[in-house]
Amino acid sequence: MSDKLFRLDAGFQQYDWGKLGSTSAVAKYAAHSDPSVKIAEDKPYAELWMGTHTNVPSYRHDDKASLRDLISSNPKEFLGEDVIKKFQSTTELPFLFKVLSIRKVLSIQAHPDKALGKILRAQDPKNYPDDNHKPEMAIAVTDFEGLCGFKPLEEIADELKRIPELKAIVGDEIAESFIKNIKPHAVKGSSEDSENKKLLQSVFGKVMNASEPTIAENARLLVKRAETKPEDFNKPDLPQLIIDLNKQFPDDVGLFCGCLLLNHCKLNAGEAIFLRAKDPHAYINGDIIECMAASDNVVRAGFTPKFKDVKNLVDMLTYAYDPVEEQKMKTDAVPKSSGAGRSVCFNPPIEEFAIIQTTFAESTGTRHFEGLDGPSILITTSGNGYISSEGTKLKAEPGFVFFVAPNTAVDLEALDTDFVTYRAFVEAN
Ligand SMILES: [Zn+2]
Repeated sequence: MSDKLFRLDAGFQQYDWGKLGSTSAVAKYAAHSDPSVKIAEDKPYAELWMGTHTNVPSYRHDDKASLRDLISSNPKEFLGEDVIKKFQSTTELPFLFKVLSIRKVLSIQAHPDKALGKILRAQDPKNYPDDNHKPEMAIAVTDFEGLCGFKPLEEIADELKRIPELKAIVGDEIAESFIKNIKPHAVKGSSEDSENKKLLQSVFGKVMNASEPTIAENARLLVKRAETKPEDFNKPDLPQLIIDLNKQFPDDVGLFCGCLLLNHCKLNAGEAIFLRAKDPHAYINGDIIECMAASDNVVRAGFTPKFKDVKNLVDMLTYAYDPVEEQKMKTDAVPKSSGAGRSVCFNPPIEEFAIIQTTFAESTGTRHFEGLDGPSILITTSGNGYISSEGTKLKAEPGFVFFVAPNTAVDLEALDTDFVTYRAFVEAN
């Protein structure tokens, strides 16, 4: 049994919003990698967790030792000295790697950065249990829909003109001021840009602070408009989105602060978004690979029965207003890798993680990877192949998860052109 490369058993969570039965990638991966898991077709399978989080720890497949215990017993070998120094932990990975299968919208939320995380925790430890930041990245495994960042300003201005229910909530004064004063082509970081953000904050703040009866009354009119006058909306997919999400969360403020103010983001399989600190977002449906820093710091805005901290939320957001195409991630080349297939790296502007996607759509064969200086976790999402290193050769099938120790070269061998893997890693340098 190698300590450099080994299979992991990953646990799963059955939250209510998960896809049902075998329509869920999480269920398929869990059942294929562990034949004792029998899929119940009427039960939700929401999240597969790969890592050292104590809620759902991963175990070494061969001897059922927990990855957390393995790391704690020999952190230098499993994390590497540089990663230990950088992240100040000898027990856990700096990232949590997941598969999510989403059937129902998750709450509209934003995550504080490190500085704000510390302040919130000091003020309200019950709602903010830790002070870390929580950058998140999502790569679509199937087609994915979400809400991500504020819409461009002229689009919101257009909605204030077209949709009386939004204007009724925002009020004539703030609506007119927004329409009249925005400078959609302001240079980022300029004083015009910061005035734009203040105008956007005033609109969002008004929506978030509206009374429940006001929201409910206007939500019903908005849904009626979506059903009977879809041409009133400035995007063809918006009426159906409103109708669908209202079925999941009737009369919710999320119809306004989410559907009308945030970008409706659609990803094709293989595309990714990085969710910056303090940017509002919500997942609507699809199967995704998600990676995040280990944290539970969430401030919620809508589509949730949970606590909404409206004041902190309205104060904290960046109010960036980029079109959705700009929120999608670009990929980098993967250095120190060669051979068959194709590897690209999704590398967000944070230290805790990046993800390498490897595909073999053109031809089967073997691709070689030099060692990375930190630990990594790899999952096969489709097709069949092998992963090998220094005499260890392991079958890689859908849902099979592997740990790769620092400074360990590996080969991925594709047996078919469907073979796809995702590898989350952290590097100290
Ligand atoms: Zn989030």
